[in-house]
Amino acid sequence: MSNFWLNIYIPTKICTVHSDKCPFVKKIRETNFKGIGELKLHGGWLKFKSMSEINSYFKLNFEGKGFILRKCLVCLK
Ligand SMILES: [Zn+2]
Repeated sequence: MSNFWLNIYIPTKICTVHSDKCPFVKKIRETNFKGIGELKLHGGWLKFKSMSEINSYFKLNFEGKGFILRKCLVCLK
């Protein structure tokens, strides 16, 4: 089963779903403002097992707060 990463970027209120094969995912690194596996001031990258888990997480935490959920155009069609 493939895994997915959710890139949560709080300044733009955009959450982008990537597959774990995506070139963007291979370049991720922890910074002072952006976490991996946790959210920091500007957000972070969280790993999920399925799209339905991502949809539930997004609904619970970000929906209705001006955030949008979109798929990466490079790795997910
Ligand atoms: Zn991607």
